[in-house]
Amino acid sequence: MTASPLATVRTVADLRAHVAAWRRQGLRVALVPTMGALHAGHLSLVSLARTRADRVIASVFVNPAQFGPNEDFAAYPRDEAGDAAQLAAGGCDLLFAPAASEIYPPGFATTVTTAGISESMEGLARPGHFAGVATVVSKLLIQAAPDVAVFGEKDYQQLQVIRRVAIDLDLPVEIVGAPTARAEDGLALSSRNAYLTAEERRVAGVLNVIMARAAGRIAAGDDIAAAEAEGRAAIEAAGFARIDYFETRAADDLRRLGPGVIDAPGRLLAAVLLGRTRLLDNRAI
Ligand code: AMP
Repeated sequence: MTASPLATVRTVADLRAHVAAWRRQGLRVALVPTMGALHAGHLSLVSLARTRADRVIASVFVNPAQFGPNEDFAAYPRDEAGDAAQLAAGGCDLLFAPAASEIYPPGFATTVTTAGISESMEGLARPGHFAGVATVVSKLLIQAAPDVAVFGEKDYQQLQVIRRVAIDLDLPVEIVGAPTARAEDGLALSSRNAYLTAEERRVAGVLNVIMARAAGRIAAGDDIAAAEAEGRAAIEAAGFARIDYFETRAADDLRRLGPGVIDAPGRLLAAVLLGRTRLLDNRAI
């Protein structure tokens, strides 16, 4: 059975008209922001959103503001027809797919930035990235005005930055984190996995195994620095080109934990380069 075509809107006015009609019926609304090139991880967010709301909107917008000048904005995979078909089959009710000019009107001059939580890890590796994310997510939350918005734990630092923004700006929305969807070998699903060669794809599957071991050691009371050092050595031996970070942090505010024994709910976070592809993953400790 093929799902019926997904209703698609491209302007904020049309988006708001749909949401207003649902509100008049007393329905709860969820938003799942994405950059498209959808995979099972994105669809798991839609499924979770369905359990929290009566209507689910997915946005697909490859946000230029969150890519650095030497990053893959132009090459980022785009497939709106494929995305719409997957969303319809996955139980999404509405696709918001705006042009860049709808999100960034002429004269656009406002940026949402966070301090602290956004400064380490991805913030160091990708200057300006989180300002781009925080700005576009703030706009999407204001535009759609959902009751709940779902984001993946796959991008754990991003999730925590968005939680911070929602609290600090009094955005009337519940931010929900969804568990990371993984391939059979445990590799976190990512639109950028499409860049991997067959050999790189094999190596990529090792990262989550190394992280699970390090997280397990730390949870068992081993020294954080020793477990991280073993993990880093294993990553280098496996053939990854570069480690941007492999760090144990507090699960809430992402302050650095260790050396020594873990004394708060933690999160092990990593970013590594494999060929020309940057892989991100994280584990609860
Ligand atoms: P992206 O399109 O990559 O910007 O991701 C859109 C949303 O999907 C973000 O909230 C991501 O954290 C989430 N996401 C991406 N990959 C996964 C995954 N493997 N499992 C769960 N959520 C994911």
